[in-house]
Amino acid sequence: MKVTHGAAIAALLGACNFGGNSGGGGGDDAPIDAAPPGDGTASGSVFDPSVLRVSVEIDYETGEAPYTGPMPGFGDTFDLSHANINRLFAGKKMLGIPRTTANMEDIGAIPDEQVTVADILAIAAAHRSQHDVPGLKTYYVVFVSGRFTDDVGPKAGVLGVSLGSTGVIAMFKDVIASSSAIGNIQRFVEQSTLVHELGHAIGLVNNGVALTSAHQDGPHGAHCTNDSCVMYWQNEGASDMAAFATQYVLSANTILFDAGCLGDVDALSGGL
Ligand SMILES: [Zn+2]
Ligand SMILES: [Zn+2]
Repeated sequence: MKVTHGAAIAALLGACNFGGNSGGGGGDDAPIDAAPPGDGTASGSVFDPSVLRVSVEIDYETGEAPYTGPMPGFGDTFDLSHANINRLFAGKKMLGIPRTTANMEDIGAIPDEQVTVADILAIAAAHRSQHDVPGLKTYYVVFVSGRFTDDVGPKAGVLGVSLGSTGVIAMFKDVIASSSAIGNIQRFVEQSTLVHELGHAIGLVNNGVALTSAHQDGPHGAHCTNDSCVMYWQNEGASDMAAFATQYVLSANTILFDAGCLGDVDALSGGL
């Protein structure tokens, strides 16, 4: 399918919603899938050697902050994001991702619980403080309550969305928190979702970073065919995402990308 300018919003959404149906209920909303690569996708230009620094800004709605701090036996909660995003760049960029809420911003209450693409972009327009400049690539992440909402209605199982070339990501804290009754699993789901959405924003899968092997899940857009990869389209719901996280997090430094996805980014970075 060819993306045209007429599909700008769909392409902007491009990168995806990580998540799926909320478990167990049956008949839940089907997650919106990614649009094919095209207009509005991430550029992949973050891999240009002239980009020396990559900075992820994190804001949160009051009461919806991401999990932070140490996890017994695993290290810091944000180690997982740091390890995985550093791996995408083969350790060759200076990466900034805040680890503590003191280094994030509380942007106050957001009464709207049906959060659209336009809403997310409005939040970013009002609160994003970091912007790309020569040598620096920035991404903006906001944690909110409520549900991602499209023309059809709220999507109960969507954990996060990445808005293509804008570098803007929204994380749906209530959905993340409901993914498991176990606190550490919630943390892993949150970190894995953040890694997934940043992966899209950075250009995976064929979302600005070209394929070097056949691992794109075409029917699901910018996702990976390997169900052991964090870029897999998790359509079985947040509970399955929790299972994914449980399966993979042997340590806080576990790399969640498969060889296919790493091959794509290594072709641009030069690899480890
Ligand atoms: Zn996705
Ligand atoms: Zn993959």
